[in-house]
Amino acid sequence: MAGINSILKYVDISNNLVDMTDLKNTNVFTAHEANSLIRLNQDSPDIPSTDALFINVRAEWHDVFINTLESIAKRSRCVKIQTAALIALDSQILAIGYNGTFSKHTECCDYWLNVYNKQHTGIFDKQQFIDWLYSDKIRSAHREWSTANEIHAEANALTWINKRDITDKHIMYTLYSPCSACAKAIMSYGIKTVYYKHIYTRGHDALTLLKKSGVTCIHRM
Ligand SMILES: [Zn+2]
Ligand SMILES: [Zn+2]
Repeated sequence: MAGINSILKYVDISNNLVDMTDLKNTNVFTAHEANSLIRLNQDSPDIPSTDALFINVRAEWHDVFINTLESIAKRSRCVKIQTAALIALDSQILAIGYNGTFSKHTECCDYWLNVYNKQHTGIFDKQQFIDWLYSDKIRSAHREWSTANEIHAEANALTWINKRDITDKHIMYTLYSPCSACAKAIMSYGIKTVYYKHIYTRGHDALTLLKKSGVTCIHRM
């Protein structure tokens, strides 16, 4: 690949080719110059790409998808964790999912607020509610309730996909590494690659299971 010193010309704003010899020893470009280089590069393969020059570096799809999960997770109304998953093929997102109750059922946060209100009378105290919500007793009660009433992000994403359409190129991206139940669903669907951003605290066995079954698991932060 040609070095930075070989860039001797750029196109100015009026599309005139301008000698850049004076700038050849610097790697500092204005936004206008960078745009010109992008345009020049499209026609001149001998000019290094803007990625190589650290100008307008293009994000990899893996990072785009992993970071998109942070936004999708905000749809979740679970009081314990907001997470999301998506299934992609090449550069296309085919399905998204986040953790939550069955469609049209009471949301997790509404359910627990209702439970709290039944147990507490008087003026509502937000801090008291939060302390109650994150107490060991309610955490454990939520775990049990969630198992019966909430669907995990990966499982929700898989519901939009036809198992017969899955190829080795389909990838599951998930904000937290899968639990054992979701790992089994991923394997059952024949998905061969899983990218995750965070390790789910109780998900180590699931990762071992996936790897043993030939699923590539990649921790992408
Ligand atoms: Zn919940
Ligand atoms: Zn799960």
